[in-house]
Amino acid sequence: MRGAVLHAPGDVRVEERDDPRILVPTDAVIRLSATCVCGSDLWPYRGIEKLDGPSPMGHEYVGVVEEVGSDVANVRPGQFVIGSFFASDNTCEICRAGYQTSCIHREPVGAGGAQAEYLRVPLADGTLVATPDLPPQELVPSLLAASDVLGTGWFGAVAAEAGPGKTVAVVGDGAVGLLGVLAARQLGAERIIAMSRHESRQSLATDFGATDIVAERGDEGIARIKDLTDGLGAHSVIEAVGTQESMMQAIRSTRPGGHVGYVGVAHDVALPGDELFFSHVHLHGGPAPVRRFLPDLIDLIWNRTIDPGRVFDLTLPLEQAAEGYRAMDERRAIKALLQP
Ligand SMILES: [Zn+2]
Repeated sequence: MRGAVLHAPGDVRVEERDDPRILVPTDAVIRLSATCVCGSDLWPYRGIEKLDGPSPMGHEYVGVVEEVGSDVANVRPGQFVIGSFFASDNTCEICRAGYQTSCIHREPVGAGGAQAEYLRVPLADGTLVATPDLPPQELVPSLLAASDVLGTGWFGAVAAEAGPGKTVAVVGDGAVGLLGVLAARQLGAERIIAMSRHESRQSLATDFGATDIVAERGDEGIARIKDLTDGLGAHSVIEAVGTQESMMQAIRSTRPGGHVGYVGVAHDVALPGDELFFSHVHLHGGPAPVRRFLPDLIDLIWNRTIDPGRVFDLTLPLEQAAEGYRAMDERRAIKALLQP
């Protein structure tokens, strides 16, 4: 099969890879209908995250089940399925508490490289959720978004306790931040402040439900959030970047007693304990347990209540994956969808 492999920073190639096979009876193999480039793929692409030799890339996937192992009971060949970046059994105590990305049996699905024609999915029964039927083509981008960025933005909003009567601020205008805006709207937030300096992203944030835009960042951004909230700060702040600056911007934009939901993959973030102590801010986040939300998100997409697929503003054949990485690295594209 064809698949994207990162050889060195900046060097993504689509090349021949071995077809994935069923390795253990709980596996499934799916034929991908669509896949995409994640903001987190840019960390190794930019050389910020170390690379141990050539790596198959991609961890976001939707597709049709091709084959299942002998122990798989919940999905069958021919079904259209969605899963998250960590495979989970969905039965252990941690999964049942809603933290499937910390499943005691979790396995990274991305190890198999989802930017490819086929993908092995471990723990298929717990990991994959089938759609009611084969989806019409126009729903595929939104269902693909549910595999990671929508589920991650949603967890950010839930962790930040977005809801009726709340003012929610969103730090980060990548796909996750924009879908954090959408999630906050769906969860009933009263006011949603998107922090973005890019016009196209500001306009998508507004379409997704943002009521205010703040273009400033850092201390100026925090001051603007305070201005908009009677000097108090937001009730809920979604952090969707993962840097020291964005994390501190999120914490300092939150009022005492408020909540930060942090879902940007943290890189060298160090929190000052004394400032945290006096802030009275709740912090919750981590790798989003997308599997918790998948059934509801699929429903919302299937009923056409939400259209998260709009974050894909570039669609390319899989063979041109390298251009997708370049476009996202240079911020010419919010998110690149790849068609195998
Ligand atoms: Zn589990």
